[in-house]
Amino acid sequence: MNRSAQQQIAILVIEDDPGDLRLIQLNIRRAGVQTLSRENALICARTLREGIAVAATSPPDVVLLDLSLPDSSGLATVQALRADVPGVPIVVLTGQDDHQLAEAALQAGAQDYLVKGQFEHDALGRAIRHALVRQKLESRLRLFEAALNSAANGVLITNLDSTIEWANPAFTRMTGLSLAEAVGRKPNEILNSGKQEARFYQNMWQTILAGEVWSGELVNRRKDGSLYDEALTISPVTDAKGAIRHFVAIKQDISERKANEERVQHLAHHDQLTDLPNRVLLSDRLAQALAQARRDRGTLAVMFLDLDKFKPVNDILGHDVGDLLLKEVALRLRTCVPRESDTVSRLGGDEFVILLAQIDKAADAALVARKVLLALSQPFTIGPHAIDISTSIGIAAYPQHGEDVSQLLKSADIAMYYAKNDGRNCYRFFRDLNEANVLSG
Ligand code: GH3
Ligand code: MG
Repeated sequence: MNRSAQQQIAILVIEDDPGDLRLIQLNIRRAGVQTLSRENALICARTLREGIAVAATSPPDVVLLDLSLPDSSGLATVQALRADVPGVPIVVLTGQDDHQLAEAALQAGAQDYLVKGQFEHDALGRAIRHALVRQKLESRLRLFEAALNSAANGVLITNLDSTIEWANPAFTRMTGLSLAEAVGRKPNEILNSGKQEARFYQNMWQTILAGEVWSGELVNRRKDGSLYDEALTISPVTDAKGAIRHFVAIKQDISERKANEERVQHLAHHDQLTDLPNRVLLSDRLAQALAQARRDRGTLAVMFLDLDKFKPVNDILGHDVGDLLLKEVALRLRTCVPRESDTVSRLGGDEFVILLAQIDKAADAALVARKVLLALSQPFTIGPHAIDISTSIGIAAYPQHGEDVSQLLKSADIAMYYAKNDGRNCYRFFRDLNEANVLSG
């Protein structure tokens, strides 16, 4: 007998035939199964009802169950016992011609069966041990399945060629694909959004086929076609010899987190009132444009705008009207600078900066400045008010008016004051003391 069978086991025998019962008791003794020291070494019951009552008060480790009892017969006996005494392994005892019934009993939840009159003590011992082990494995399996079924993350089990063998309910919630729709398919066929390059998947396969865990983020497609962000970890599962047999993928829908991150990023880089890029983003883009211009020996221009006599709008019509006017000005400025590479930003107050990232020559900025002055020359309608507003524009170009971000912004700001001093509603280029203002309009 192996170790587990040498432990003391409480066996409940539900058998009405005294002859069969004696035989079973004999075989149990011969099998060497250490039964608990209760009356008659084992617990016996002669009807199903009695058996269930006994099991309820002192749960046995295993039940030997005759399938034809005075108060129950056939499969119903197994089903009733399974229902009333769940979790206890059952070995059914059937008549000689009842193999089919025995098989059905296994389906109904019995762990093993013995055909009466055909088993010796060793078969009985084996059946009891088998039932105990099988019960333990089954309850383990049920526990693991329940854990995976209640997991918040999607879990996918595939074979070596990535064909899906199992998926948990969280996977279904995440993707809209039922277990039946997923099994037999490959993730690549049912989830691929086309957003990742082939290289992304090559790297993934290389890692997991080398037996390593792969983690990453990607965009996948749900059954309804919508896209979502996913955090994915794939672990190879090896057999006893170390060969990879399966992959387990753990999936988390991180769309909400991504959207939040993007919102925070957007807020950090945009002006709340106009939604234009703010000083931070402008500086960033200007730095990038400068790097590019240095590489290409190109030219770029920074235009500093400050609205003329904006304060009176606030004072006379109220701050709210002032805000609405700033929003409308922002919209018109954007129409003046349609190129993707250019940036219209608001530094705050009534100050805007336009970055022209790629121009042929500094004088080209004058064309944009004229366009801006013209665009603002039409009155703005804010509620019942028609408001006239203009702007003063200072222009600084790389490389002649500054070589870095702060120098260029400073030069453009200074040039804006030239425009203010020259009567507003005009543009001026930056000029230092040594440079004639040949470009100013
Ligand atoms: P100037 O022609 O010399 O530029 O005079 P200005 O009246 O435009 O005055 P200035 O540019 O010096 O000041 C801009 C004003 O804009 C100051 C402040 O009251 C107002 N302001 C600043 N931020 C906001 C804002 O977010 N909303 C509104 N409505 N007004 C603002
Ligand atoms: Mg102003």
